Amino acid sequence: MRQLTFAPRFEDWQRVARAALEQAIPPDEVVWQELNADQPSLDIFEEEVPSSGPSKRAQFRVPRAFVELARAVALNCEPVRWALLYRLLWRLTHGEPKLLEISVDPDVAVAFQLQKAVRHDIHKMRAFVRFREVAQENGSWFVAWFEPEHHIVEQNAKFFVDRFASMRWSILTPERCAHWDCARLTFTPGVDKSQAPSDDNVEALWLTYYSNIFNPARVKVHAMQAEMPKKYWRNLPEAVVIPSLLQEAPRRVEAMARKSAAKTEANEERDWHPAPVPETTSLSEVAAASRACTACHLYKRGTQTVFGEGPKRATLMLLGEQPGDQEDLAGKPFVGPAGKLLDRALAEAGIERDDVYVTNTVKHFKWEPRGKRRIHQKPNSREIAACRPWMEAELRLVKPKLLVCLGSTAAQAIFGPSFRVTKQRGAVLESEFAPKVVATVHPSSLLRQPDEESRAREYALFVADLRVALAAAAA
Ligand code: SF4
Repeated sequence: MRQLTFAPRFEDWQRVARAALEQAIPPDEVVWQELNADQPSLDIFEEEVPSSGPSKRAQFRVPRAFVELARAVALNCEPVRWALLYRLLWRLTHGEPKLLEISVDPDVAVAFQLQKAVRHDIHKMRAFVRFREVAQENGSWFVAWFEPEHHIVEQNAKFFVDRFASMRWSILTPERCAHWDCARLTFTPGVDKSQAPSDDNVEALWLTYYSNIFNPARVKVHAMQAEMPKKYWRNLPEAVVIPSLLQEAPRRVEAMARKSAAKTEANEERDWHPAPVPETTSLSEVAAASRACTACHLYKRGTQTVFGEGPKRATLMLLGEQPGDQEDLAGKPFVGPAGKLLDRALAEAGIERDDVYVTNTVKHFKWEPRGKRRIHQKPNSREIAACRPWMEAELRLVKPKLLVCLGSTAAQAIFGPSFRVTKQRGAVLESEFAPKVVATVHPSSLLRQPDEESRAREYALFVADLRVALAAAAA
C-alpha cells in the first residue's frame, strides 16, 4: 500500500493523482492522506515520482466533464472523495473513457451525489448569509456568520465580491473565513461563532425589507423548511418575522389575488380594437361574423353575441344599449322584461314589431355578479367604440328611413357624447346614419320608475315618442 499525503485541495490532489497514474499505481494500492495545517508534508509520493515527459502525460487525457466533477467533489467533506476520484480517474484512463455517461455505475453515481451536495451548499450560502454592520474607526465593516457543510467558502467568495464589491466584509465560518476590503480578497482560518457580531444596525432595515419582499402566495411551509433547514434559521434575522408573516399570509394572498384580478380586468378592458366587419352586402354574413367577435373583452363575459334582428328592408330601426340577462341567454335582442314592455308600447303606437329591425349599440351583455344574479353594467366608451362597426354595418345594410335611439348610450353613439335624451327626446333629427332619427328613453327606465303613477306617465311619453317616429317614417 502507498500512502499519498497532500493538502486537501483539488489542485494538490490533481498533481499527486497525476503522478500516481504515471507510476501506474492502481487505486486499491493507494491510501489518500489529507495534510492538516499542523502536519508537515511527508511528500512521500513526490519523492518517488520520476519526471515524466509530455508524451506520456498526453495518454492520461480525461474528459473536461471529469475535471469539473472532480473540482466540485473535492469541495465535499466526505473523506472517501479522494479515493473515489482516483478510482474514476484510473478507470477513465484504463479502457473506460465513457465511464461518466454510465450514471448507474456506483462510482459515477456517488460522485454526482457528492457534486450535488456541494452545489446545494453553495446555493444555501448565497441565499442565507446575512451581514451585520460593525462600526470601525475608518468606516463600517459588514460581518456575517455562516456554517457550511462542505469546503465551499473559497469557491463561493468570488460571488460575494461581485455582489458586494463596494462593501468591506468578512464571512466567518468555523473552517475558513473570507475577507474583502474593497480591493483584495483574503482568507484566514476558521473562527468560533462568538467572534461574529450579534448587534446589528442594519437588522431592523433588513426585517422591513424582508417583510416587504415576502410573498405570501409563494409560501409552502414544508417546501420552505426543506429549502431552508432550521439550522440556518438561527443565523437569519428574518426568522423572527416569518411566523407572523405566515399567520398573515392567507389575508395577504387574498388581497393580492383581488388586486391581481382587478389589474387583469383593467388590462383586458384596455385591450380592444374596432370589430372586424367583413366586406359584404349580406346582413346574415355580417351577423354570422359577429358571433366570433373578440374585439373587446366583453366576449368573455357574455354568453354569446346578440346581433340585430328584423327584416333587412325595414323602414324603422330601433337601437338600444346592449343585451340584458335574458337576451344574452336567448341570443335575441329585446326579449326580456324591457323587450316585452317595448312590444306593448310599439303595439300601442301602431307599430308592428315584426316590421322593425331591432338591435343594440353593443352586442355583448356586460354585467357584474351580485349573489347569484347578473347585474347590468353600462358599457364604457372603449367597448362602444370596439362594437361600433357592427352597428354601422347594420345601418348601412338595412338603410332605415327612421332610426329610434332607445336611451342615452344609443343616442350618444349616433349624435356624440354631448347629446342629452332628456332635452331632445321626441324631436325628429337628422344624422349621417339615417335621414331621420328620434331619440327617446330606454324601455328599461320605465321599469325602474319608483311608483305606478310615474311609470304610467313615462310609459305614455314613451308611446308618444314612438308615434312621432312612426309619423316621421311615414312622411
Ligand atoms: S361587445 Fe361588440 S366588439 Fe366587444 S366582443 Fe362583443 S361584439 Fe365584439
